[in-house]
Amino acid sequence: MVPTTCFNCESACGLLAYVDKDTGEIRRFEGNPAHPGSRGRNCAKGPATINQVNDPERILYPMRRKGKRGSGEWERVTWEDALADIGGRIGKAIRENRHDEIMYHVGRPGEDGFMDRTLKAWGVDGHNSHTNICSSGARLGYAMWSGHDRPSPDFANARFILLLSSHLETGHYFNPHAQRIMEAKRSGAKLCTIDPRLSNTASMSDYWLSTWPGTEAGLFLAIARLLLEWDTIDHEFVRRWVNWETSLEKRFPDRDRTYESFIEGLKETYADYTLEWAAEECGVSIDQIVEVAREIADAGHQFASHTWRSTGSGNLGGWQAARTLQFLHVLTGSVGTKGGLSPSAWGKFKPEHWNTPPPHSRWNELLWPIEYPLAHHEMSFLLPHLLKQGRGKLDVYFTRVYNPIWTNPDGFSWLEVLTNEEMVGLHVALTPTWSETAWYADYVLPMGVSAERHDTHSYETHAAQWLGFRQPVLRVAGERDGKTFNRTYEANPGEVWEETEFWFDLSFHIDPDGSLGIRKWFESPNDPSRPVSVDEYYGWMFENSVPGLPEAAQKEGLDPLGFMRKYGAFEVERDIYEVHERPPADPRNGVSIDGELKTGFKTPSQKLEWYSETMDDWGWGEEAIPTYLKSHVNWRDLDLGGNERILLPIFRLPTLIHTRSGNAKYLYEISHGHPLWVNPVDADALGFETGEMVRITTDIGWFVMRAWRTEGIRPGVVAASHHMGRWRQEDKTGNERWSSALVNIDQLGDGKWRLRQLKGIEPFESDDPDSSRIWWKDPGVNQNLAFPVHPDPVSGMHAWHQRVTLTTAQEGDQYGDVVVDTAKSTQVFEKWLEMTKPGPGPDGNRRPLWLDRPVKPTPDAYRY
Ligand code: SF4
Repeated sequence: MVPTTCFNCESACGLLAYVDKDTGEIRRFEGNPAHPGSRGRNCAKGPATINQVNDPERILYPMRRKGKRGSGEWERVTWEDALADIGGRIGKAIRENRHDEIMYHVGRPGEDGFMDRTLKAWGVDGHNSHTNICSSGARLGYAMWSGHDRPSPDFANARFILLLSSHLETGHYFNPHAQRIMEAKRSGAKLCTIDPRLSNTASMSDYWLSTWPGTEAGLFLAIARLLLEWDTIDHEFVRRWVNWETSLEKRFPDRDRTYESFIEGLKETYADYTLEWAAEECGVSIDQIVEVAREIADAGHQFASHTWRSTGSGNLGGWQAARTLQFLHVLTGSVGTKGGLSPSAWGKFKPEHWNTPPPHSRWNELLWPIEYPLAHHEMSFLLPHLLKQGRGKLDVYFTRVYNPIWTNPDGFSWLEVLTNEEMVGLHVALTPTWSETAWYADYVLPMGVSAERHDTHSYETHAAQWLGFRQPVLRVAGERDGKTFNRTYEANPGEVWEETEFWFDLSFHIDPDGSLGIRKWFESPNDPSRPVSVDEYYGWMFENSVPGLPEAAQKEGLDPLGFMRKYGAFEVERDIYEVHERPPADPRNGVSIDGELKTGFKTPSQKLEWYSETMDDWGWGEEAIPTYLKSHVNWRDLDLGGNERILLPIFRLPTLIHTRSGNAKYLYEISHGHPLWVNPVDADALGFETGEMVRITTDIGWFVMRAWRTEGIRPGVVAASHHMGRWRQEDKTGNERWSSALVNIDQLGDGKWRLRQLKGIEPFESDDPDSSRIWWKDPGVNQNLAFPVHPDPVSGMHAWHQRVTLTTAQEGDQYGDVVVDTAKSTQVFEKWLEMTKPGPGPDGNRRPLWLDRPVKPTPDAYRY
């Protein structure tokens, strides 16, 4: 049995691989009981790792394209040739001072800090993530309060739990959170789910509030108003930890300088958020709002909540949902308490990486354009538009576990730039399987799934800190058996590499003689003529930067690396509460509270900021406090009596993994339908029956799905999961046949595209006899292609929800058709760009220095 870590979502649960000693093969995966986050449990996606290992469709050898990009002609190459070509090209760009032409674009990172270190060593501002199509909205809302961009609820000890969307069944951190929520329920806690859709979580909740999409912040402010009215406020907490003095001065300059007048100011600010207003705006009953508010008030310090994607990712201004939700915690003092909500960083352990390079001093305008100074992450989904505008170009572009043509909005604009070699010189796809985007790569380099690589992780799953260690199972099993391996690919299937070793070796190829100053960061400390080995790298980390691990290892007669190889995880600290009250590690960094020096929070004031001076300074004065912003899909603006409805396109299924579960037959056997959820009230009004084809028209095109009449969605809103609609352009390659449709992609005119399905999922012959037993047929429909970009002008988050027109399918329409005009995409992009308030800020910087960003550069890089 070899422990490793699941890679099928961000939770990083522990897995235990069973290796058959006779055959040397992995037989199955179960939960790892030694893992403090998952405690031996997994969701369906964990054990399905075995499908990913044994997938007969996986890519086993490095490939280089032969014909035109996207033509589907490939040849097998050696790793050495690929590394030399890619490394040589990057080295040339760096020597010619074209650092901004190198970009690493990651979907699921699955690791903590390794790539940051690599990009720092290269000296490039080239980190691009998927975060602005995922979670930037909620992140900004949280960060503006505390400087920490994620919530860490202590669900297990809560009395009342409020989930914005379906986190118990599918959210961050799915299995670790779900098991603790169930524990709390067993101890008598009540659960409330706010979601227009009846998710599995909502169905298990004590309260389901099916709000109008994008109105949730209004609901929270109505609850805040009630808490203020009832005076169920933890005044001691608010007085000590909220920046009320600055808030008074800036927002209520005519009031007395007392805490009491700040509270009066709050009451005045939120006076209009009456129960009557909220009931109408949000579409829920007054009784429901009062009951939930009473539960929150009664739970006091044991009130826990979570939001991540859902409304924060769906709506213009969605970031205020997280900000207003956090407001309820501030008022009740349930911040950092047992059973309350802590900032993420308190529950995350970040070890030091060996030999860490200094920050780089560059600023890449393709990632951080001046129009979005407060964007929480890179403006990743705007890349095609920024390239088309001529703001830069890419010489080497890595996509890593990322599939932007399929995953991002406006996929045909991605297709247009990825096939343009002037804009993207070399596209390298690092992926264990084919994907819609890898099809447009120049190199497809197979990387290991979770049982085939090393990574470290730590996530804020509960009130503790832990470190997980992913490891290549067959390599570790072989080493236990006395075999030796120089590189992980020697033990993996085919020539599947692990990325840690890939980046080490690639860095040697970028700077073979060390003259760029890059190679030294990747040399072995014992033999500088070769790259550092994984044992040296992780051995140093576990020995030098994980408190308590060397001692725990010693007790078992192991070294720290041996301990992590045996258990796969280590608990660094448990029961972490009220870190803000602790004395600061460095007295120069403390904040004085009632005369005592405390650690505080990460904002400029080191307090919780009700009023954000930063937002005001950067032109967002009205939005500088928790407030309600009208969504781009506000129900009042729609012709609901006609054919318009709000489309929710982002809900997750608990058994699929974004675009990455196509290689898991267990999961597709469970989940393989893709209906459009329509309430019978709407279905009757629009004339839809279950199974009938519907044309859904957006601002840039349309697509065709089948309707499903269900009361599990509120009238006025329709929904479809974002997992489905995988495609391939050749029958026997280019994507997984367990899950994808064979399609044609036709250019109907300049910028006009049509994707049409030729056939759905069918049985096929392969080394796995199960492939001939496939009984499911529906590949689903890719909606994202028909969505224009909707960049929120503050958070930078793509607002996913769509205002759509629904009609029955028209003559010539076929199931799965997607038709798009990318000229219209450009128009929508330009319209949303007009909403921005470009930097630089009052200090001449591109972005507030205190706000986090990935691979943060030196302060001089911020100067505009
Ligand atoms: S929640 Fe499921 S998919 Fe996510 S890491 Fe855990 S077992 Fe894997």
